[in-house]
Amino acid sequence: MSKPIDIDGAFGEGGGQILRTSLALSLVTGNPFRIGNIRAARAKPGLRKQHLAAVRAAVAVGRAQVSGDVPGSSELAFQPRGCFAGDYTFEVGSAGSCGLVLQTVSPALLMARHPSRLQLGGGTHNPFAPPYHFLQRTFLPLLNRMGPQVRSELQQWGFYPAGGGRVSVDITPAPQWTPLDLPARGDLIRCDLQAILAGLPRHIADRECRAFNAAVSRPFDARVEELPDTVGPGNVLMATIESTHMTEVFSAFGRRGVSAEKVATELAGAVNTYLASDAPVGQQLADQLLIPLALAGRGRYRTTPPTRHTHTNVAVIGQFLSIPISVRPVDTEVWEIRLGDWVGKQDGARAGTTRR
Ligand code: AMP
Repeated sequence: MSKPIDIDGAFGEGGGQILRTSLALSLVTGNPFRIGNIRAARAKPGLRKQHLAAVRAAVAVGRAQVSGDVPGSSELAFQPRGCFAGDYTFEVGSAGSCGLVLQTVSPALLMARHPSRLQLGGGTHNPFAPPYHFLQRTFLPLLNRMGPQVRSELQQWGFYPAGGGRVSVDITPAPQWTPLDLPARGDLIRCDLQAILAGLPRHIADRECRAFNAAVSRPFDARVEELPDTVGPGNVLMATIESTHMTEVFSAFGRRGVSAEKVATELAGAVNTYLASDAPVGQQLADQLLIPLALAGRGRYRTTPPTRHTHTNVAVIGQFLSIPISVRPVDTEVWEIRLGDWVGKQDGARAGTTRR
């Protein structure tokens, strides 16, 4: 049995992603790990419901031995027996994000020998987590270009704090992956804004659309969608930017005590940063693409200046996989992230990673 890898949960960004990346790569590699100082940099450190849901999902997929998996725990030990594809139902609980549980178990299932089907119950559009439409329009299409095929369906919306959302995900793994090369986004094709409301007055969404278009550097086609009151209360503003080579989705969430105008200008700020650079990959996608590209063996993308999430994820990946990752500025607005011994498309090689 290999020695557990020691992870410091207080390192760098000090949040839940350190735990999720460790769980994901432990399932991929079969390496056990121990983590201390879980989420030490967060206001309420330790394992919360959301993180326990990710741990439980990883335990199921890896038929793993685990200790420390109790609410509030700052330490966890995890030892998988393998990676077991299959049909799973994961209830994340009222406020938890389905997307973050998917982030935890999908890397190993994408490399398994057999397909899997996941039913996820919880939040589909949560702050501080990848919303369903980001996964569907941005993240999963890029994964699908690399070989595995992932199909998702939003069966029911779920907002923080009520939850109640449902997502199904079908994963068909691939034996070999094609590395992704995303140096540019190409031309802008479409810029759409969706203001989604459930159980809240319509004027909130109308004001968000007006304030967003007043603050953003080019006009977006805006539309309001009102969901049944039973789904709410909830409000998300999503900007979808379709370019020749990929689609990005940015979101901001309405919340008590924050005006519709403030929510809209927050989102416009993130969108303006993206539009001002010609990088294809936005800040949040940048930290999430690292694992799939590492599994492919190599890859490259350009992004807006990287966050601490990205730098931290690079370091955690380095504890499980021996793949060189470089994160370098191209200019003040664009950075390039390279994984493996990237030499360019023309060499035509496929890297691929061995299945467990
Ligand atoms: P953590 O804060 O450590 O729990 O990690 C949060 C994860 O959710 C990171 O991978 C972020 O990139 C991702 N994330 C947070 N907000 C969004 C968003 N609006 N769109 C896409 N991904 C997000």
